Amino acid sequence: MGAIDIIRRRLKEDRIPETPDEIGAKKKRPREVAFMDVNLCFPCGKCPEFCPVQCIEYLPAGTMPGRGVQPVQDRFQECIGCYICVEVCALLTDYDAVRMYDSDLVEDVLGVKIGDRPPDVPQTPQPYEEFFSEGGLYRHLGRGSRIRQKMTEEERQIFARERVRG
Ligand code: SF4
Ligand code: SF4
Repeated sequence: MGAIDIIRRRLKEDRIPETPDEIGAKKKRPREVAFMDVNLCFPCGKCPEFCPVQCIEYLPAGTMPGRGVQPVQDRFQECIGCYICVEVCALLTDYDAVRMYDSDLVEDVLGVKIGDRPPDVPQTPQPYEEFFSEGGLYRHLGRGSRIRQKMTEEERQIFARERVRG
């Protein structure tokens, strides 16, 4: 069993929305959606690898001046609210860069509607630093890992082995 299997099992126990067994797409409006703190994101590339709907991508080249490899951000209108990226970043990296935000809040802040299905045309992600990065208006909302406290010593050792070093 690897770290991602432990994350999935623990999140299921925690009644977080079930993730599809294979790469899937959003089927209902999630209660929360993820945003990365682009200033904290290394980027290690781990959360794009494990997002079950593949909605996390690197920001387009030059989006954040001074950064070579751009940080990642998700296409939040495709996010299913599964928390996997939160746990991956909190438990497998040194960055803890991802938080979940209430969908109603996101709709109000960004002036958008989050629907039951992904948009017909994928929306290019934005940094949203002013809202969801440290020092931004809402970064304090939400929490990091939900499962850290529940992990066994054996599980912690698996995470330690798979941890990405920056
Ligand atoms: S896991 Fe964290 S540091 Fe790595 S790419 Fe995702 S947000 Fe960035
Ligand atoms: S919570 Fe994270 S991993 Fe899950 S669908 Fe949203 S962006 Fe992807």
